[in-house]
Amino acid sequence: MTKTKIVEISRSRLSKLLNQEEQRFVVRHPRSRELAEQAKQHLLAGVPMIWMTRWAGGFPVFVQTGEGAHFVDVDGNRYIDFCLGDTGAMTGHSPPAVTAAVTEQLRRGVTYMLPTQDAIWVGAELSKRFGLPFWQFALTATDANRFALRIAREITERNRVLVFNYCYHGSVDEALISISRGKAIPRRGNIGYAIQPGLTTKVIEFNDLRALEMALAAKDIACVLAEPAMTNIGIIPPLQGYHERLRELTREHGTLLIIDETHTISCGPGGYTAAYGLQPDILTIGKPIGGGIPTAAYGMTEDVAKRIANVTDIDNADVGGIGGTLAANALSMTAMRATLEHVLTAQNYEHMIKLADRFVAGVQAVLDECSMPWTIKQLGCRVEYWYRPDPPRNGGEAALAMDHDLDRFLHLYALNRGILMTPFHNMALMSPATSEADVDAHTQVFREALGVLVK
Ligand code: PMP
Repeated sequence: MTKTKIVEISRSRLSKLLNQEEQRFVVRHPRSRELAEQAKQHLLAGVPMIWMTRWAGGFPVFVQTGEGAHFVDVDGNRYIDFCLGDTGAMTGHSPPAVTAAVTEQLRRGVTYMLPTQDAIWVGAELSKRFGLPFWQFALTATDANRFALRIAREITERNRVLVFNYCYHGSVDEALISISRGKAIPRRGNIGYAIQPGLTTKVIEFNDLRALEMALAAKDIACVLAEPAMTNIGIIPPLQGYHERLRELTREHGTLLIIDETHTISCGPGGYTAAYGLQPDILTIGKPIGGGIPTAAYGMTEDVAKRIANVTDIDNADVGGIGGTLAANALSMTAMRATLEHVLTAQNYEHMIKLADRFVAGVQAVLDECSMPWTIKQLGCRVEYWYRPDPPRNGGEAALAMDHDLDRFLHLYALNRGILMTPFHNMALMSPATSEADVDAHTQVFREALGVLVK
């Protein structure tokens, strides 16, 4: 049997190529560079959000306008957008149905501190999609998760939660934790934590059933907070049977299961939960469900709803730590209704997932041509490629396998040729407005990028 010779990437070549792309980035973005300098006068670190300093290239690209799967920057460069606001714009930018409904609602008031009828429609639609009967709203997925954790602690009368190493659920204190040499420590970069997160949280590796059994056995865990497949340290699917056992064990030990569908909604209209028949006690979701307008939701079983009713103190319900004056405002409810009714539809998912299949096939064909040890992962309309022959099974393995220089090079190479990938690890999302030509353009640029890497 002949063995395929694996082609490795030379580090010195990578470093030279990265440098070339950084220079090219500066040349192609003079106006963005000027604005980035100007922004330093009154924006901390010259950016509206500090994590934007992480974009490859030394300064972020300033956006002029966007529509569907494309946007144009202030230098007039046009991009195919596979980042799509890291899922916030998985619907495509300003989908017409949402724009029309929101524009109309803007004339009729934005926020009232009172419900509008859209909330009833949205609650019913989410129940149909996810199989959970009762819903509440927030403005961000972070808040939906924070509120779900509070509820879980309150009704189980347990303090601690369990998360997976290198999970990300937003800026949720309990989840900014990782494992180092077998110990739970604040995740690197965790700013100003009030207490050691190890006091509130147990952290174990995803896909490790033995660790899960041991962690739950003490019966002190209020809830497990989990993405059904990890997506924030690369895509890591659950091993066969993992979810069945997770559900059995959580039930056995009186621990609630919270499934965060914020990213895995890429799997279909009912996310991973509907696609794989999961049965969470609470489900959280944010980002794309308002077509880009800030909104989020969390749903629960009848049992959870009853237990909440038992502990609710109506006289103090407005100061209980589950809040948000602007949450469930009229505008975000309208946006959610229009998004669910007209954009994140079964028909559109079919188109998006077909495009993701095409994306995978294109990348795979390039990899087959050049014998490089890469892995491609797909979760519905979300795709990601890794320079690694075998896929990581958990966050710890994935973190060790990250290659920041290679990620930065691939990101900049694509960006300099009109393609925006999700930054920090190279991930692509398909929207209803994405076309086959967009996908094929990426395949071509990816082919060229690998071509220069192994020349
Ligand atoms: N849950 C998951 C799975 C996420 O990936 C994120 C953000 N990337 C969040 C929650 C938080 O979303 P937001 O920052 O919009 O609150």
